[in-house]
Amino acid sequence: MDIVVSGIRSTGNLHLGNYFGALRNFVKMQETNTCFFFIADYHSLTTHPHPDDLHGNVKKALVDFLASGLNPEKATLYIQSDLPEVAELYLLLNMNAYLGELERCTSFKEKIRTQPENINAGLLTYPTLMAADIILHRAHKVPVGKDQEQHLEMTRTFANRFNRIYGVDYFPEPVAFNFGEDLIKIPGLDGSMKMSKSEGDMNAIYLADSPEVIRKKVMRAVTDTGPTAPGQPRSQGVENLFSLMKIMSTPETLSYFEEAYQQCTIRYGDMKKQLAEDVIRFTAPFTARINQLQADAPYLSRVVKQGADKARESAAKTIHEVREIIGFKKF
Ligand code: AMP
Repeated sequence: MDIVVSGIRSTGNLHLGNYFGALRNFVKMQETNTCFFFIADYHSLTTHPHPDDLHGNVKKALVDFLASGLNPEKATLYIQSDLPEVAELYLLLNMNAYLGELERCTSFKEKIRTQPENINAGLLTYPTLMAADIILHRAHKVPVGKDQEQHLEMTRTFANRFNRIYGVDYFPEPVAFNFGEDLIKIPGLDGSMKMSKSEGDMNAIYLADSPEVIRKKVMRAVTDTGPTAPGQPRSQGVENLFSLMKIMSTPETLSYFEEAYQQCTIRYGDMKKQLAEDVIRFTAPFTARINQLQADAPYLSRVVKQGADKARESAAKTIHEVREIIGFKKF
């Protein structure tokens, strides 16, 4: 069985993009692979979260993971910072990671542009921490989005470099898990191409959003002044609404509004009302589970403990072997 590892940022609630782009696939993968899924709270420290927020954000992500169908009996579900082995492997990998290659990383360059006031060493070494997360379990496959492909390439570099330096064939070369047709990109409500937390709260619909919030967000979604001639191309905002409708609504509803657009009789207000109700129908069971889980502290604590124990078993074995390979010996 393939070993699959994937993390997800611990910046609080998960949105529809996270669900369709990641979690839904994790849920399928856990059936046929040995999966390790973790909440990446060490990674989140690069943005200096307030101590009051850190735990709450991890809890929200954990609850959303579980509500989405990740099964702690099937997959190993853990919090990154529960594994001291992650930090140790990160340190060891950093010794063979070079400034030039880290600085060339696209996401690092992007951070220099977007947060020039906080270019910390954690951001620079984000790829080594990610590599540690993955190779700690000697993973074969990593379900990654397009934006993470360069990081995965660096993970392969670090894994191969370790093998070469020490003359071993220890770490497998992890490859991207190929979803084929299954990888759906969810657009934002503000006319941007991607639903994303960083674009502000009105861009994204969260699994935990109440019906009132969903209605408010959808009704405020960006549109245009409406088509004036048949066959007129759709603006990005309107295109996004149709993309969401394609996923959330019935084919009949979709073709009704497509037809109305064609005929220039469409009323975006009606389309949004319908879309909001269809989104609410979709998220309702998630929201119900989220509320239930949030109130069940003993269950969450059991899940986290069980996940940490299982993950540490795998991690400790790797660290033990890595230390031996590197040449650490007991006195
Ligand atoms: P993030 O925490 O924003 O990095 O998102 C975690 C994962 O969720 C990403 O690696 C993607 O697999 C998925 N994801 C995030 N946003 C979207 C989106 N708008 N559409 C599809 N997948 C997404």
